[in-house]
Amino acid sequence: MLKITPYLGIFVLIVSIAGLWFPLLGYFLLLVFATLMITSIFRGRWFCGNLCPRGSFNDFWVSKISRSRKIPKPLRSFWIRVPILALMMVFMGYRLMSTQGIVNQIGMVFVVMCLITTTIALIVGVNFSPRTWCTFCPMGTMQNIIGGHKYRLHVDDSKCIDCNKCEKKCPMQLEVHTNDHKPDCIKCGRCVVACPAKALAFKS
Ligand code: SF4
Ligand code: SF4
Ligand code: SF4
Repeated sequence: MLKITPYLGIFVLIVSIAGLWFPLLGYFLLLVFATLMITSIFRGRWFCGNLCPRGSFNDFWVSKISRSRKIPKPLRSFWIRVPILALMMVFMGYRLMSTQGIVNQIGMVFVVMCLITTTIALIVGVNFSPRTWCTFCPMGTMQNIIGGHKYRLHVDDSKCIDCNKCEKKCPMQLEVHTNDHKPDCIKCGRCVVACPAKALAFKS
């Protein structure tokens, strides 16, 4: 995790709330989309665990009021995630076409999208676990598809002492100490820091 990661959540509130009065703030989402698309090619979902403002918002704000329960398994299913991704694309496309290219209106489409998704993230984050939204977020799904096999977390079985400390720290509630493919690992590195046996490392 980068040192700035905990401080990025404020951008979610700035865009979702101040954006209603200053729609140009919505264009910030384009920067987010572009960055995550590029980083996903090389590092999978690294953006989610290090640079995403909503990820930071979930981890450091929503976590304070979350019931911290198990994330429902069906939400991880591609039968749920891909339709949500497609739905968001269609909805965004339709809304953008109806702006007729007016700069402020385009910005407002992004602001409203940010507000809607933040509201959903907040509801599921409070009721389940802070990162619940990130298990089915369309942008997370897209990064999973593009670079889920990149920059994998590797477990050195000869060092692992099965203490399970890594899994307790994982915000995505993954089975950390197996070498199974984990395309939804957000490369936050919390498990690596928590491991007393230094058994975990990322490999490109
Ligand atoms: S899954 Fe979506 S909201 Fe969560 S960190 Fe990734 S891009 Fe951000
Ligand atoms: S497996 Fe480790 S790096 Fe990946 S999301 Fe979980 S804690 Fe973060
Ligand atoms: S924290 Fe380290 S030693 Fe403990 S189970 Fe995880 S990988 Fe193994």
